[in-house]
Order: sequence, then C-alpha cells, then structure tokens
Amino acid sequence: MAASASALKTFRSKLLPIEKYSFLRHLQSAEPLTLYRVLAANAMECLPFVYTPTVGEACEKYHVLPATKTSFGLFINKGDVGKVGAKLRKFIEEKDKEDVKVAVVTDGERILGLGDLGANGMGICEGKSMLYTVFGGVDPRKVMSVCIDVGTENEALRAHEEYRGLRENRIRGEMYDELVDEFMREMRMQKPSCLIQFEDFGNANAFRVLENHRRVQPCFNDDIQGTACVTLAALEAALREQKKALKDITVLFYGAGEAGVGIGELVVRALEKSGGLSHEEAKRRCFFMDSKGLVVKSRLHELQPHKIPFAHEYEPVKDLKTAITKLKPTALIGVSTIHNAFDKEVIETMSALNERPIIFPLSNPTSKAECTFEDAMKYSNDKVIFASGSPFPSVVRREDGVEIFPAQANNAYVFPAVGLASVVADCKEITDDHFLVAAETLASLASNDDIDRGYLFPDFTEIEDVTAKIAANVIEKMTKDGTGRMTQEELSEAKRDGFESFTRKRMWKPPPEVSHARL
Ligand code: NAP
Ligand code: MN
Repeated sequence: MAASASALKTFRSKLLPIEKYSFLRHLQSAEPLTLYRVLAANAMECLPFVYTPTVGEACEKYHVLPATKTSFGLFINKGDVGKVGAKLRKFIEEKDKEDVKVAVVTDGERILGLGDLGANGMGICEGKSMLYTVFGGVDPRKVMSVCIDVGTENEALRAHEEYRGLRENRIRGEMYDELVDEFMREMRMQKPSCLIQFEDFGNANAFRVLENHRRVQPCFNDDIQGTACVTLAALEAALREQKKALKDITVLFYGAGEAGVGIGELVVRALEKSGGLSHEEAKRRCFFMDSKGLVVKSRLHELQPHKIPFAHEYEPVKDLKTAITKLKPTALIGVSTIHNAFDKEVIETMSALNERPIIFPLSNPTSKAECTFEDAMKYSNDKVIFASGSPFPSVVRREDGVEIFPAQANNAYVFPAVGLASVVADCKEITDDHFLVAAETLASLASNDDIDRGYLFPDFTEIEDVTAKIAANVIEKMTKDGTGRMTQEELSEAKRDGFESFTRKRMWKPPPEVSHARL
C-alpha cells in the first residue's frame, strides 16, 4: 500500500479528534510529504483535525500532548531581549527556513474564543501555517510559526509542571512593545520579503501592533483584516442577490472589538472606493454597540482608541432592539461573543425593516453565536440572508421545501490567498485595498442561484481554484499599486499568460508519490 493510503487508513482508525490531530502532527515530523499528500487529497475530511475546531482543544492541551513535544515553531520570550536576532538566525538555519516567506505570529493572549493560552498558542500558528500550504499552495519550507511568549494570566497553565512557557503574568506596555519591535526589526533585516501574519493577539495590543508595523514591512492581522475581508465578501454577495448596491447599506455591529472594527474599517474603504461616499459619510453607515451600549460621541472619554473613529454624534442607546428601531440597519453583524443576543424580537425587528434582513452572527464557537440558523430562519419567516462564524445545520424553507444552507464566514478563504499573493508578488506592504480586491473576487465566485440557497461563498472543495483566483487578482493589484516587486521577466510572463495561470504555476504541491506496486 502506498504511504499516503496507509496513513489515511491509520488516520481513519483513530476515534477521538485529538488522536487524529496527534497522528497528523506525528506524520508532519516523520513524513511531511505524506502528510501534505493526505491533506491535499482529503482536505474536507482532515481539516477539522488540523484546524478548527480540534486545533482549539490541541492548544488547550498543547503542554501535555506527546505529539506537540517537538514544536515546529520558534518561541521568543522576554529573556531574549537584545538577542532575538541570533535566536532567529539559529532557528532559520537549523529548521531549513532559509527561504521563509510567511511567518504566522501569536502572543497567545486570545486563542480562538478560548482566551489566554500563553505559549500553547503556538498550536494556532502551526495550524494556520499548514493551511498556507494546503489551501494557499505555499511550500511548507517557506512558512514558519512564531510564539512571542510574554507570560500568561492563565494560572492553571502557569502552575502545570509540563507547561513550557513563562510562568509569570503577561508583560505589557513598553517592555512588550520593545520585544515585539525587536522581533519585527530582525525579521525585516534578515528576511525582508517575509510576510508576517499576526494571529490571536488580545485587542489591547492587536490594533497598535498592526498600526506600528503595517507601513514598514509586509504584515496583516487576520482577526482584524482577514475577518473583514471574508465578511465584506458575504455582504457584497448578499447585496448582489437583492440587486442592491453597497452604497445603500447601513450596518449595525453588535460588538466593537477586533473583528467588528476591522470589518467596519474595510466596509468604509469599500463605500469610499466603489460607493462614491466621502469618508465621513461612509463612517456614518457603520454603527457599533459594545458592552455599554451604542458607541457615541458622549462616551468618548471611556472609549478604547479603536472605537473612536466610529463614535458618532447620536443619542445614547442601551439596548439592541431600540438601536435597530432607531438606526434601521440593512445588516446586523454579531461579533460580541454573547449567545442568543439576536433573539426573536431582534430578528423580527430586522425583518420588519428589511424584505431580506442580513444577519451575520459571527461569534465563535457555536456556544457563543448570537443566534442559530434555525432561529434566524424561523423568526424572519425564512427571509434572512445569513452567515455565521460556526457551522449550523441546514433548514428546509417552508414555502417551497428547498433546503437552505447557512454560509460560514471562514477566514481560510482569504488569508492563504493573500499570503500566496504576497509571496509571488514579493510584496513590500499589505494594504486594505489588497483585502478589498480579495473580497470582491471572493464575492464574485458565488452565483445568484447559490446565494438563494444560502451559499454566499464557494464550496471548500473548490478551494484551490478560489485561492488561485483571489491571489491572481491581488497580485495584479500589487503590481499596479507599486507594492509588488516582481521582475520584468515575471511581469511579462504574467501579462502574456494571464495572472491566474501565472499564479497557478507557482502554487506548491507535494511531488507525486512513487508507486511501489509490483510490475
Ligand atoms: P473582542 O476584540 O474581544 O471584541 C468583543 C466585543 O464584544 C467588544 O467590543 C465587547 O465590548 C463586545 N461585547 C461584549 N459583551 C457585549 C454585550 N453584552 N453587548 C454588546 N457588545 C458586547 O473579540 P473579537 O476578536 O472582535 O471577536 C469577537 C467574536 O467574533 C469572537 O467570538 C470570535 O470568535 C468571532 N470571530 C469570528 C470570525 C469569523 O467568523 N470568521 C472571525 C473573527 C472573530 P467592550 O468593548 O465594551 O468590551
Ligand atoms: Mn484568529
């Protein structure tokens, strides 16, 4: 039996998700090409066990799992101040990362919806790194995972004898920034083309870290910008089906953290660019609620900096239903982690205002979702246009018995493609406009018939095509806006063959398996 067939058989024989995860990790160390062949040929079956949801459990147990005793990534901690460069150089040498082009970096503060997991957050970077290869076609030798360990508030982890991270409270303020800055500076000096993906930082640091570095070297934050991109794509698809234009929308965000504000910023950019609105007009189309109510000017003194651009001149409003009645939003986006916040009354109010209300309860995991698909259908009289963060079962539409599916706003549609684009175009700065192009491309890949059945996104079985198409358009954009650094030869080839074909040729795949079958 070929190695990959045998590996797949063993994978299938494991019963618990965490055992499947452990087996794939073991395969990654022992026979990496076999792992990538198995994942490429069985992506839908295997991915839940290398990525969400199992990766969450793997992060929680990272310190005790035998399979993660050998990490694939680099740990940097506060003891490395002044020596980050040497540590990075040694890692690159020892782990064959000379040609690294993408680094997925976390500080472990807000892993998925699981909170502070300190150094165990490495697991999330390793999972995303794998998706760069399987979905994004980036050679695994060009991807690395990094955990900047600044301590953890997670007392159970700190007390555990097998925990490998710093056993102290998180460092914050200047010391934190110095360590992150030193790491970024060293990456810039040693690997100037390497894209940095910030992943699962807490919102007290995420916006500032991104702002400090985004114009100096290629980087983005997936929780802010990747989420924004996939959600904007869902909005654009939803509006297209209704023959409405983006400029006609008003969005109410329930939750004003990384995801919400990230989406808001990209919606504003889209309204300015394709909707023809001024920056101020565009911002007035996005209203936010946080745990204290509507984000308004009279609350300026208490607002975190990322909310301030969206603090409008408006009367204070405490509850969601009143806010909907007053603001009359076209779309309601849940990024609050508050389970059932979109109750019967909320959905009915949205439905009374809109023929087809757009309701996206994006909070993860399922236990935090603002509403279920079933409730959204029931209380909107089957009219809702829906996307969620977590998967839900399909629902049969009462009017015609057609099965309607809930769309899942999964960042994995976007970040591997943007990463691939950055690698291929040798991009020096990732901009919001790159994410706009990615969103428009993704939105264009669902047909109106698909959308009517709930599919705002293409199927994951088509991910290779989706990645190639998104990356190709982003690469073209990068060459036009001057952020790409392709050679004249590459540019001529891309223009001659088309950017998509040019991109496909540069997507890594494991070499075909040598058959040992007897003649
Ligand atoms: P975050 O930065 O912690 O933000 C959470 C926000 O929710 C904060 O603004 C918080 O208010 C607000 N909130 C808390 N309780 C509330 C309440 N009772 N009423 C109204 N707002 C309330 O978290 P995040 O990174 O934005 O993530 C939020 C959720 O989105 C998570 O569940 C995450 O899993 C999900 N998400 C989904 C996707 C996806 O579907 N692709 C991507 C990213 C994130 P304060 O500011 O007042 O504390
Ligand atoms: Mn994340």
